[in-house]
Amino acid sequence: MDARHAILFEPVSIGPKTLPNRFYQVPHASGFGSSRPRTQAAFRAVKAEGGWGGVCVEYAPISPDSDDLPAISAEIWDDRDARALGLAAEAIHSHGSLAGLELYHGGASCPNGSSRAVRLAPSQVTSGVQWSGLAKEMDVTDIARVQRDWVRAAQRARDVGFDIVYVYGAHGYLMTQFLSADANRRTDGYGGTLANRGRFWLETLAAVRDAIGGDCAIATRIAVHGDSGVPGAEGLPGIHVDEMLSLVKMADDLVDLWDVTVGSWPEDSGTSRYFPEGHERPWAHQVREATSKPVVTVGRYSSPDLMAEVIRSGEVDLIGSARQAIADPFFPRKIADGRFDEIRECTGSNVCILREEVFNQIGCVQNATAGEEYRRGWHPEFFPATNDPDRSVLVVGAGPAGMECAVVLAKRGFTAVHLVEADTQIGGRLRWARQLPTLGDWGRIIDWRAVQLARLPGVQVITGRRLTAPEILDYGADLVVIATGSAWRGDGIQPGHPDPMPGADPGLPQVLTPEEVCAGKRPPGRRVAVYDTDGYYVAPGVAELLARDGFEVSLITTFDVLSPVSDQTLEGDMLRAHLHQAGVSALTSTTITAIDAGSVTGYGRHGEPWSAAYDGIVLVTQQAPQNTVYAELASDPGKVAAAGISGLYCIGDAVAPRMISEAIFDGHRLAREIDQEDPAQPSPYKRERANLT
Ligand code: ADP
Repeated sequence: MDARHAILFEPVSIGPKTLPNRFYQVPHASGFGSSRPRTQAAFRAVKAEGGWGGVCVEYAPISPDSDDLPAISAEIWDDRDARALGLAAEAIHSHGSLAGLELYHGGASCPNGSSRAVRLAPSQVTSGVQWSGLAKEMDVTDIARVQRDWVRAAQRARDVGFDIVYVYGAHGYLMTQFLSADANRRTDGYGGTLANRGRFWLETLAAVRDAIGGDCAIATRIAVHGDSGVPGAEGLPGIHVDEMLSLVKMADDLVDLWDVTVGSWPEDSGTSRYFPEGHERPWAHQVREATSKPVVTVGRYSSPDLMAEVIRSGEVDLIGSARQAIADPFFPRKIADGRFDEIRECTGSNVCILREEVFNQIGCVQNATAGEEYRRGWHPEFFPATNDPDRSVLVVGAGPAGMECAVVLAKRGFTAVHLVEADTQIGGRLRWARQLPTLGDWGRIIDWRAVQLARLPGVQVITGRRLTAPEILDYGADLVVIATGSAWRGDGIQPGHPDPMPGADPGLPQVLTPEEVCAGKRPPGRRVAVYDTDGYYVAPGVAELLARDGFEVSLITTFDVLSPVSDQTLEGDMLRAHLHQAGVSALTSTTITAIDAGSVTGYGRHGEPWSAAYDGIVLVTQQAPQNTVYAELASDPGKVAAAGISGLYCIGDAVAPRMISEAIFDGHRLAREIDQEDPAQPSPYKRERANLT
């Protein structure tokens, strides 16, 4: 181990327990909860195996009035739930790490849609989170009952083996609702002064400590909120750092570990677009000075030197991580072994959050195995050897899908993998996307794969060669994988308008695609419309690029807000504010149906005719697969067989344009399953079903 990093591997005592090192996977949602316990256990266990000394499961509602469906949480309402979650504790222990469970009550934020329980809150005040009516103002009986529920849940957590038990207060949930002078308008002993508003939190901590403090470390998660001015950072309700520090001092004797978050979720899980690595440092520093107990914060840490410096400076005791632990479960081990070139850095794109929130199935753009450990049996570091390593494989196209496929094939022991790319550089669509303002860290997707391709024996990368179908037939490969990707169409086909848009002639100087803008093409004149029916990162990126170049840019979209997908990655508010500051004007709920020289026409939200003068338009409307080579080969199986090719496959955007994470998943899956009987079809995966007995 490099001496500079030895400090990261020191043990740390928290209450009655000792963490084996300073790598701590903080609680974060996965979509698995207690309803898919084996999936949960395998997802967490691989992090313990990879060297994370503390590994936590996600938020665990303590009772039916903290029901969070349709989001999936680690409900711990009864002993059966606890036994399900205990599988994770057991699996984490098997690798020598400590297991944590984040006991939670969301108060007024709970939808309670399934339980139909009345929502609970310190006061009956209107808030942004109303879920079909107001919450009940908790009376003292409710307060005592919730505290009893918390204690029972803590005992259950202890009984099934958890070492660290949380009293979760951050992110605007019940504890924070009590602490906030805005949400708590009570006039009894639980409202008014800070000491009164903090009473519910402190009493709960004391009760949990009395019940299990001798057996488990008690952690509490807080959110400090400063005057960051970050749009979207003022979640329900922000607790100013001054007040929070007073609470820390009041509660310090009751807590073994302070888990510090900053602002609301979009700031705390800040993406690489808007937050640098370690952005929470100033806040952690202040908490550090107010407590004598260990402190953990996150900050999208992925550089060992910076992490060692942060620990050495005394600001925090543990390096907290959710996203880097997902991107590279073996991050600590790789640092310990000095295998720095194998570290897979998080891109900070929050695709994990999008997948967990939208699909209840976490995923990662960098790590295709995330969430697949149990159901597909995939391990991030171990790759079953192929039963026929001497078959030569030609992968055509080095975008995300092709790069990933080639890496996994090489890791499986294939001895002759050729990755052939038409461009002079590998990376596919990321070659231009990483050039868009704020998206630089997405280039880590290319960087990690480029390093692996260079160091893995058995794989050869050939750039600057565009293969035709006859050349592929003549190449001499036994297996052929087509990963030729997609391109933005310049013809204006869009949802609800399946025919080309009148005037959208890709040959005209005033009609541009995103790739053309990134390659340096510019419209005539100064006024540009960037038209978006895609809803994610491309249109905002192109708009900002052109605005930086001095164009007068309008971002026009059919959606009700700019870039709705960015709301799923927690970036929406910041992205819109950022575009505003960059001078990009916004027009929502507007459809463009025709382009003329100097103007565009269409209709507004209610179908009313609309037109405006523009000198050029960038169409971010739809992508088309670039699959002619595949179509030509697939149309003549006899020729393919005669060429000695025993398997021909198509992956990634060449099949259907999708998110980068899905193209990488596609390439990874094919490489894992290429020895199966029909590799083109994904093998069935294990599903956890309710026990019907
Ligand atoms: P995906 O996300 O599916 O990997 P991309 O569009 O990002 O797709 O990347 C596809 C890559 O394939 C691009 O880099 C492109 O230059 C390359 N490519 C396309 N056609 C050919 C071809 N006939 N021969 C070699 N490379 C190709």
